[in-house]
Amino acid sequence: MAKTAAIVVAAGSGERLGLGQPKAFALVAGAPLLAHVVRALNAAETIDDIVVVVAEDRCEQARALLRRHGLVVGAVCPGGATRAASVRRGLEATPRRSQVVAVHDAARPLVSPALIDRTMRALVDPWAAVAPGLPLVDTLKLVDASRERVLRTVDRRGLWAVQTPQVFARSTLQRVHARLEPVDATDDLSLVERAGGRVRVIEGERRNFKVTYPEDLVIAEALLARGS
Ligand code: C5P
Repeated sequence: MAKTAAIVVAAGSGERLGLGQPKAFALVAGAPLLAHVVRALNAAETIDDIVVVVAEDRCEQARALLRRHGLVVGAVCPGGATRAASVRRGLEATPRRSQVVAVHDAARPLVSPALIDRTMRALVDPWAAVAPGLPLVDTLKLVDASRERVLRTVDRRGLWAVQTPQVFARSTLQRVHARLEPVDATDDLSLVERAGGRVRVIEGERRNFKVTYPEDLVIAEALLARGS
């Protein structure tokens, strides 16, 4: 079977979390977010290699923390100024034999091995990319630049919040990143969409939320303590 690789992007600053250190290094249930993510990827049946992307000055710290938690990865490499640049760096560091590549945010520490495997296995013809997602539940308003005045309500039917891991053939991910440079994007699926590829969303998991604000750490801690 074709080999696979996962790229964990962890080079963001995590400013909104307010801890004064990158989000990936924040502790939840005694381990940094990065360690939880790598553990889940190691436990997934469909991932052969893992590349971790962190800020240039954090590579040694990341290697040390992975060692401390008994976790093995193929490479730890420096990221870029944007998420897309970090993905590109990670892609360059994946082994050439990996024909399918998953990109996962370090900020989603509760991703389950089952969700990783389900997403990997959902990349079948004719799809060019797959990600888990969930339909939005809140009522959506478009608000103007003053962040005060509501312009209108947006129909939420058909709107999904997309998660990671996002899965692609290696050649697809390489092509869309090369073609669309220097465009930045908040995810990789959007690059495939812009290039005209067929993009698939599958049912995600609520617990696979993105840790962004301090409260999210409390929720992650509670879920991990419950073992659910
Ligand atoms: O900022 P945001 O929460 O959207 O970041 C999503 C993921 O992308 C995080 O795991 C973050 O560490 C990563 N990222 C990165 N390099 C950047 C910016 C964000 O690896 N320059």
